[in-house]
Amino acid sequence: MTVRVRFAPSPTGMFHVGGARSALQNWIFARQQGGVFVLRVEDTDAARNRPEWTEGILSALDWIGIARGSYEGPYFQSSYAAEHRAAAQRLHEGGRAYYCDCTREAVQARTGSQYSGYDGFCRDRGLPAGEGRALRFRTPDTGETVVVDLIRGEPTFENRLIEDFVIARGDGSPVFLLANVVDDMTMGITHVIRAEEHLPNTPKQQLLWDALGVKPPVWAHVPVVVNEKRQKLSKRRDKVALEAYRDEGYLADAMRNYLMLLGWAPSGDREIVPWSVIEDEFRLDEVNPSPAFFDEKKLRAFNGDYIRALPVDEFVAACRPWLTGTDTIAPPPWQPEEFDEAAFAAVAPLAQTRIAVLSEIVPNVDFLFLASPNIEEAAWAKAMKEGAAELLDATVAAYEGLASWDAESLKATLEAVGAERGLKLGKAQAPVRVAVTGRTVGLPLFESLEVLGRERTLARLRAARLRLP
Ligand code: GLU
Repeated sequence: MTVRVRFAPSPTGMFHVGGARSALQNWIFARQQGGVFVLRVEDTDAARNRPEWTEGILSALDWIGIARGSYEGPYFQSSYAAEHRAAAQRLHEGGRAYYCDCTREAVQARTGSQYSGYDGFCRDRGLPAGEGRALRFRTPDTGETVVVDLIRGEPTFENRLIEDFVIARGDGSPVFLLANVVDDMTMGITHVIRAEEHLPNTPKQQLLWDALGVKPPVWAHVPVVVNEKRQKLSKRRDKVALEAYRDEGYLADAMRNYLMLLGWAPSGDREIVPWSVIEDEFRLDEVNPSPAFFDEKKLRAFNGDYIRALPVDEFVAACRPWLTGTDTIAPPPWQPEEFDEAAFAAVAPLAQTRIAVLSEIVPNVDFLFLASPNIEEAAWAKAMKEGAAELLDATVAAYEGLASWDAESLKATLEAVGAERGLKLGKAQAPVRVAVTGRTVGLPLFESLEVLGRERTLARLRAARLRLP
């Protein structure tokens, strides 16, 4: 039997990192088993779905290595409506489902509680189909449903505690629980690897598989992803969109490596490993069922390591989207014609060791491409203390006479200027750095001045001096 797995996102928003994690696990599992990965877009909730979210998911999957064309699909759940309805019909005809006209209020009035499930009132009324009548699945009164789950063992559910749940609404449209099962059947899915949030649905879905006469798949419910407060990662509270991480400058390799560590680890004391190792070593049945902490700080550090490990030319190429802007990344603050490829290449190695996400390249190099630096007010106030005017005057004078405009001479010269005023190099650098780059921190100063060049450096030092009393 060929293993067939599926990833079945609902396109109701940006692509959640937890979803990306599940997609990768499905992807690797399929490859390890010589199986097939199917992508199914669960787009039946017309009110909440948007085509651009679907496109966002496809392109984000592509970004982390699940490339279009290398999987089966995408299939769209909305094109299988006839199959969903036919299955609902079959369940009704076989006596496994019945029509119900109870309102929520009526059920509550009978049971005296808004929390108890459906009380089975219409079970034996034999109502025919009709406007406003929902179709309910008749769950067994006895026995238990055992879910075979590769990660969680065999969670067991008592059937009498499972209410007769709705499978088609009053307007005849099948609900998610049924559509999802019918699609998995239609697509020959053998393993359902999905988020833990769906575990409560699973006994109901397995009852549907049984009732439709098909052997249920093997399940694997991968752990919920939580924030530092152990709350489920939510799009309203946390940064969850894979696209947001991509546009901030996380590398795809760092991201997918990190995502695979949510609930699993490679052998040895390693966390940063090549993708090929993960593909070899990952075992679905070794995934830890406990909630997995999505540690953004750790991911950031991880990404910094990945950035530093790039060959410089790859780093330069990876920075390009932030140096030019794209349809999802804002353009940099300089004019395109001001960008100087050679100047960027000269400082790139210095930046590479200092940034954790690629978008940070912009504030580190903008001084090279802006006509005049963008001086932060706070930086100015901090650096331009008493004595700054004299220091700038002396630096300009000394730099004007410099025979060779190189980092070493620039440093030695400023060191001497500072020493005459009893200032250590760090103190003497501060006004110069702010005058030239606009910031108090950044790339090594003297290398920066070398690349910026004599004329522009001197012009900026003079301009800053003029602003001072
Ligand atoms: N469309 C469902 C979701 O996005 C997935 C259901 C499943 O994987 O079975 O949560």
